[in-house]
Amino acid sequence: GEIGYHVQPIRDARTLSVEGFEALLRWERPSGEVLGPTEFLDTMTSAYDDRTRPPLAAAHRVSDWAARGCGKFISFNISTAFLERAARRGLDWVTEIAGGIPHHFIVFELVETAVTHQEDAIGQVVGQLRDSGIRVALDDFGVGLSTLERLQSLTVDFVKIDRRFVAPALGAARDRQILAGMLRITREIGARSVVEGIETAEELALVRDLGADLVQGFHVGRPARTADYAGLLLRSALV
Ligand code: C2E
Ligand code: MG
Ligand code: MG
Repeated sequence: GEIGYHVQPIRDARTLSVEGFEALLRWERPSGEVLGPTEFLDTMTSAYDDRTRPPLAAAHRVSDWAARGCGKFISFNISTAFLERAARRGLDWVTEIAGGIPHHFIVFELVETAVTHQEDAIGQVVGQLRDSGIRVALDDFGVGLSTLERLQSLTVDFVKIDRRFVAPALGAARDRQILAGMLRITREIGARSVVEGIETAEELALVRDLGADLVQGFHVGRPARTADYAGLLLRSALV
């Protein structure tokens, strides 16, 4: 019951209007200490077995808040290891995660935690998810295991470009061209780009000029409790 989600807005790069939120796992200890996923996720996922479910009550609370409350999409991080298990036991868990929320409000971000040996099975699950109306994002594109090969084998709706490509692009022309190329590939395969880790106004201006669709980062909204974004509810109700 201490594990829940904070949310971080994902905004249109040009208008800065909020399009959706990423749900980020947090462990709020009784002491008041708040732990981020890097401090407990490995332990938690290695304890998973076939009966393990994500923190469903918390997932429902946050998707209800985003979809019904704000009319925005909510994006959950799903490890490919979890998808592999899902491929074996069917997609019931999807309806469980979605709760009663229409699937077009739900995005699953695929995070790579291990080399997968079941590329086909994952491709199939991703296809089924998209058929059910859920949208899929490839997270952390460009680093680690989140490679061009993944884009080749999976059809995705969003490509989230890792923040490590952002700050350097303000310096060297070569780094700017790499970022521009990643944005172009994303566009040409018919997906929308989300540039992660926007920390300054200069970075925002740069990625907007390079044609980014969506942006996320401390400069355009920090991860926080849903209550801290309650103002958005009021504002969106007014427009
Ligand atoms: P991610 O999915 O790439 O999430 C973005 C991370 O970048 C978050 O860290 C967020 O707090 C941080 N971030 C956002 N904007 C900025 C910025 O402008 N600058 C910098 N330096 N960082 C920024 P967080 O919350 O610690 O999450 C770390 C990773 O843990 C996530 O990376 C994701 O891979 C994983 N994770 C989070 N929640 C879940 C979950 O529910 N399930 C799974 N399987 N993994 C999760
Ligand atoms: Mg993510
Ligand atoms: Mg990411």
